[in-house]
Amino acid sequence: MSCTTRNEVLELAKSKLDDLVQLTSDLIKIPSENPIGTQRDVVDFVKKYLSEAGIACEEVGCNPEHPCVVAKIGKEEGFSVILNGHVDVVPAGDRNQWDFDPFSGEITDKCILGRGTSDMKAGVAGILFAMKTLVEAGVELNGNIRLHIVSDEESGGEYGTQWLCANGYAENADACLVAEPTSHKTIEIGQKGKIDLILKSYGKSAHGSLAGYRGENAILKLGKVLEHVDMLREIEGKYGENQKQALINSKIIAGEKNGAGTGDVIDHVSANVGIIKGGTRPNMVPDYCEAIVDLRLPIGVTIEEVEERIKAMIAKSGVEGVEYELGCQMLGNYTEIDAPIVEAIKKYAEELWQEEVLPAYQWASSDARDYRQKGIPTIQFGPSNTVGIHSYNETVDIEDVQKAGLIYILSLCDLMGID
Ligand SMILES: [Zn+2]
Repeated sequence: MSCTTRNEVLELAKSKLDDLVQLTSDLIKIPSENPIGTQRDVVDFVKKYLSEAGIACEEVGCNPEHPCVVAKIGKEEGFSVILNGHVDVVPAGDRNQWDFDPFSGEITDKCILGRGTSDMKAGVAGILFAMKTLVEAGVELNGNIRLHIVSDEESGGEYGTQWLCANGYAENADACLVAEPTSHKTIEIGQKGKIDLILKSYGKSAHGSLAGYRGENAILKLGKVLEHVDMLREIEGKYGENQKQALINSKIIAGEKNGAGTGDVIDHVSANVGIIKGGTRPNMVPDYCEAIVDLRLPIGVTIEEVEERIKAMIAKSGVEGVEYELGCQMLGNYTEIDAPIVEAIKKYAEELWQEEVLPAYQWASSDARDYRQKGIPTIQFGPSNTVGIHSYNETVDIEDVQKAGLIYILSLCDLMGID
C-alpha cells in the first residue's frame, strides 16, 4: 500500500504500535553495557531490523566493539534531518538492588522493564520505528532522513557521535533529533558547557615531625584556595531576548526535578571539587597537591571569563605557588526556539498529550553538542521515567513510548513536506 497524506501515515503507524513496544523489549534483552561490555550484538540486531524493513544501512566507526550504524532514506536535495540514538547502556550494577531482571525486557500492563528502557532504547526503538513506518507507507519525502545509531555515548562518545561528526556524516544537515530521555513535557534545546579545572599546589618537603617549623604544606595551601571555590559559582549565563522564556522554563523544571532552590543551576556556573590528590606519607610534609574541579558553564559564559575568576580566586586565598591548567573545554550550546525541528515536535507533542510542552535548557551535557558545534539545530526529546536512569529498576511507560513514536513520525512528515 502507498500513503500520500500525513493522516494515512498516522493510521498505519497506529496499527503497528504493538511492534514498537516489542522492538523496545527486544533491544533491552540484548545487554550492551558501557563501560566493560560491547555493543556488537545490539548493533547486529539493528542492522538486521533495518535490512528486513528494506532500508539499506552501513556499519561504520573506528572500534569494532563500539560500532555505529548509518542509514538514509529520501532524496539527496531538500531538508535533511538526522535521527540520533545510542544503544549502549550504563552497567546494571548490583543485581540485588533490582526488583526484576535488568535484561528480561518484560512488558507489564503499563511499563517495559530493564536497563536502558528510558536511557535510551525506547528512544532508539522510536526512531527505528519511524523510519520503517515511513518506508512502509511509501510516501514521497521532500528531503531526506539520516539515521545515526551510535554505541558509545555513556563513555564520552569518542567512538560514536563525535566520530560520526568528525568524519563527514553530519554535513549539510538542517536539523537533528536526539531521542534521549526528556519526559514528554520537555524539549531540550540547549545545554551547559564544561571545563576540567586542574589546580596544582607546590610546597616544600620536610620531616613530618617538624611540620609548622620547617617545610611548606602543599595540601593546606590548596585547601585555602578551595575555600573560595564558590567565587566560580557566581558567574552567570547570558541570554538573548528570545531565550528568556526557555530560561524561565528550565529553572522551573530543574527546581521540580532536583528540589526547591536548585533552579539557579541552569544560569550559574557549577563547581564540583571531585578529586584531590596529595602527599606521600603521614610523616612527610607534602610538597605537591592537585585537585580537579568539574565546572559547568551556562550558555553565554566564555572560557576567558572563567579564567579571570580562577585567577581572582587564587589571589583571594593569599597563597603563593598555586597554579592552574584547563583540561577539556566546551562552551554551552543551544538551538533557537523557533527552529523548525523545535516547532514540529512541540506542535505534535502538545496535540497528542493535550498539555503544554516546554522547550528548555539542561544542566548536564550530551551528544547533542557535537551536532550543535556543526551549526545544526538540534533537540533532545524522548520517552523517559527519570527515576531509574543510571540507577536501579529502570522502566519506561508504554504510553510514553507509543506517543513518542507517533510524535516523531508526525514531525518528520511536517519536515518532509507531507501534509
Ligand atoms: Zn542517554
